[in-house]
Amino acid sequence: MKILKTLTLRGPNYWSIRYHKLIVMRLDLEDLDERYSNQISGFYEGLNEVLPSLVEHYCSPGYRGGFLERVREGTLMGHIIEHVALELQDLAGMRVGFGRTRETAEQGVYNVVFEYMDERAGRYAGRAAVRLCQSIVDTGTYPQAELEQDLQDLRELWSNASLGPSTETIITEADERKIPWIQLSARAMLQLGYGVHQKRIQATLSDYSSILAVELACDKEGTKTILRDAGIPVPQGTVIQYFDELEEAIEDVGGYPIVIKPLDGNHGRGITIDINSWEDAQQAYDLASNAAKTRSVIIERYYRGSDHRILVVNGEVVAVAERVPAHVTGDGRSTISELIDITNEDPRRGDGHDNVLTRITLDKTAIDVLKRQNYDLDSVLPKGERVFLRATANLSTGGIAIDRTDEIHPENIWLAKRVVKHIGLDIAGIDVVTSDISKPLRETDGVVVEVNAAPGFRMHAAPSVGLPRNVGGAVLDMLFPPGTPSRIPIISITGTNGKTTTTRLIAHIFRQTGKVIGYTTTDGIYIGDYLVEKGDTTGPQSAQVILRDPTVEVAVLETARGGILRAGLAFDSCDVGVVLNVAADHLGIGDINTIEQLTSLKSVVAEATSPNGYVVLNADDERVAGMAERVKGKIAYFSMNSENPVLQDHLRRGKLAAVYENGYLSILEGSLTFRIEEAKNVPITMGGMAPFMIANALAACLAAFAQGVDVELIRQGLRTFNLSAEKTPGRMNLFDLGQYHVLLDYAHNPASYEALGGFVKNWQGDRVGVIGGPGDRRDEDLIQLGRLSAQMFDYMIVKEDYDRRGRNSGEVADLIIKGILQENPEAQYDRILDEQEAINTGFEKVKDDGLVVILPESVTTAMKRIEAEQAKQG
Ligand code: ATP
Ligand code: ATP
Ligand code: MG
Ligand code: MG
Repeated sequence: MKILKTLTLRGPNYWSIRYHKLIVMRLDLEDLDERYSNQISGFYEGLNEVLPSLVEHYCSPGYRGGFLERVREGTLMGHIIEHVALELQDLAGMRVGFGRTRETAEQGVYNVVFEYMDERAGRYAGRAAVRLCQSIVDTGTYPQAELEQDLQDLRELWSNASLGPSTETIITEADERKIPWIQLSARAMLQLGYGVHQKRIQATLSDYSSILAVELACDKEGTKTILRDAGIPVPQGTVIQYFDELEEAIEDVGGYPIVIKPLDGNHGRGITIDINSWEDAQQAYDLASNAAKTRSVIIERYYRGSDHRILVVNGEVVAVAERVPAHVTGDGRSTISELIDITNEDPRRGDGHDNVLTRITLDKTAIDVLKRQNYDLDSVLPKGERVFLRATANLSTGGIAIDRTDEIHPENIWLAKRVVKHIGLDIAGIDVVTSDISKPLRETDGVVVEVNAAPGFRMHAAPSVGLPRNVGGAVLDMLFPPGTPSRIPIISITGTNGKTTTTRLIAHIFRQTGKVIGYTTTDGIYIGDYLVEKGDTTGPQSAQVILRDPTVEVAVLETARGGILRAGLAFDSCDVGVVLNVAADHLGIGDINTIEQLTSLKSVVAEATSPNGYVVLNADDERVAGMAERVKGKIAYFSMNSENPVLQDHLRRGKLAAVYENGYLSILEGSLTFRIEEAKNVPITMGGMAPFMIANALAACLAAFAQGVDVELIRQGLRTFNLSAEKTPGRMNLFDLGQYHVLLDYAHNPASYEALGGFVKNWQGDRVGVIGGPGDRRDEDLIQLGRLSAQMFDYMIVKEDYDRRGRNSGEVADLIIKGILQENPEAQYDRILDEQEAINTGFEKVKDDGLVVILPESVTTAMKRIEAEQAKQG
């Protein structure tokens, strides 16, 4: 077996609208082609032994063991690899289940599609699945050690991909609320929402976290003085910088017990609490001083009680937790060291911040803390007796959290709110030491020890004891108060022909509303009036540039087939999905071989349109109209024919449509008619002579109308949009050369050719075509091009492209000529392979008031030639 290509999809795609995260592995089965699993001796048994958990895969039979049954009875290797890739991820802790395997037009080559949670892990699982199955085929098994290694690697990839527990709580809630989020390239920076409505977070810092407040919170001494001045109880203490100040400082705070900590520390580093002797104080001083960047050390009175964390978001107390340092409780039999092992067996405990709890580490600190309680690791603890292994209560050093949100005294809530206002933080964790949070701090001699910016959420979202609190929800309520948008309207345009033109027109109409429009096309990415980046930007990465942009109010995205196929859509859903037409083009590329497959591919845009949104469909194109059955959004049809039965039926049911009738473009809703404009006043329709442009304009009108754009503004947009050669080179650029006109167009497939013919046939006068076609099209497409040309032109000059894309000289021209003669054996034509020469001949041959249509290889070169001719005439 050989993996030919691996794609990573990230949005609605050809394989699934619902499952966005998919790996597509193009796999050549090679010698395993047409070999069913039951014909490979020992395969079923081997697979069963290596991955017995595959019994959980139902597969098509629909019951437990269903998949393994199919392996026993005989199924193809691609299908098996799909299931193995899913199972490997599952065993490594990633819940995935969706998969598909389909043959391609190439013998023995399959597309194996399966879900992932982390893309690197997904691709890894695909490779491992191939390795595993190949090994079972060759040797009857897969070494246990290899499997363990694979799973370990997968687990590692998954844990590296995790965004951290606090961020997870926020994005889980964002998903719940259908607020889109994007990971930005700066470390840990996350965008919530799109365009102008976006907000950013970094762990639990937000757009609203003031730099002044964060700086103040990080300065423990500054925080304490500000709070003390406000009458809030804080530890009595002082700051020193030199060792010889220590003795006096201890006296100042009222003698032992004391706490010594670094001025600028965090996560409990360098802190010693409950110091009762000069000897301990000396040690603690060194520890703190070494941990402090500034070498400054805080000496404080030690307050008895337990550690509490009050989380305040947007001015409200949303959660309270009591934190207990890492500890074990005796059972009367086990040593402390054994008790630690037992405690660490809790499946909720892991390493670092990724699990609900962290394992207790047996290190020097733990041994020291034990010593101060007169124990060592081998001591057997009496039943029920508790010893601590850490002085501070951080979860990251093995502590636990008990939810106390419902117990906090109202006066303490009042106090906490004032604390946070004084510091100025939007999201803050207040550390309070008190024996009982359900009593006012005044009564318990409790104190506010510090205020944390970017507090961790883990202890509230997943407390060890008590109710989990939806702290992520509180953050989202602040960033997106109920009723405020997180998204901007997304209008996505697809089809075989006319995407760029329609995208530009829609953007132009929306611009009449005064909003900032971001749009992507085959020529580049634009925001407002300016080009951001030149190039063919019709894929998801370019779309993301628009969605990430904080100035953009409306996104209009040309969505071409290549991008959908390669990576899926850039968004989970759009507000308007426009499908202009589906015609044979690019067939045979990317395993899209039939027009039906191409239709499914374009239909992704229609199907990803939100249920509240509109799907704008061409009622005159059977395949496009047929997409109506598969969409969730509301439907709006456009048609060039008011008698179109699909349209008629739709209108009878009171629905939205646009139609070209009696020379007018109109929007209809049931029996209501809004006349938008007469075609001859819409420049892109070339005085009403280019029917396909009228169709594009109808689609654009509907897209704007569906988004609530005023009819008057739509009209204004239609009237003022020009297909100038500067703005849209190669798209219906008409030049007046005095005696005759020249049309430069980039029609490059039979359907666009036919559309062009619709205009050319409307031309009153001599019609000359300078024609050719790209060499990578199929023979029959080039012949068809010839036939269509013969229908529209009085005289043809057949040329060829400089870049022949693998064909012999003259081959393309001869195929086109073959078509011309099939259509009309009497047709008049020249065969002039050089494009420049062919264009010159066109200018010579055309009669007065005639039209020369040039289908150039290079638009810029042809344009230069036309401009030179224009200058000569002028
Ligand atoms: P973190 O980053 O985890 O909040 P930190 O390094 O910022 O820790 P502090 O919050 O100042 O340090 O102290 C850590 C813990 O030590 C407190 O939560 C509290 O349990 C204890 N502590 C600190 N100062 C005192 C004090 N004066 N009296 C009693 N306990 C204290
Ligand atoms: P591409 O796939 O190259 O990006 P596109 O779909 O963006 O093409 P446009 O650039 O808007 O299409 O138009 C290219 C050519 O297609 C036009 O110059 C015209 O000849 C033809 N065309 C435009 N609209 C239509 C239509 N609705 N039906 C058929 N042909 C069209
Ligand atoms: Mg603290
Ligand atoms: Mg385009």
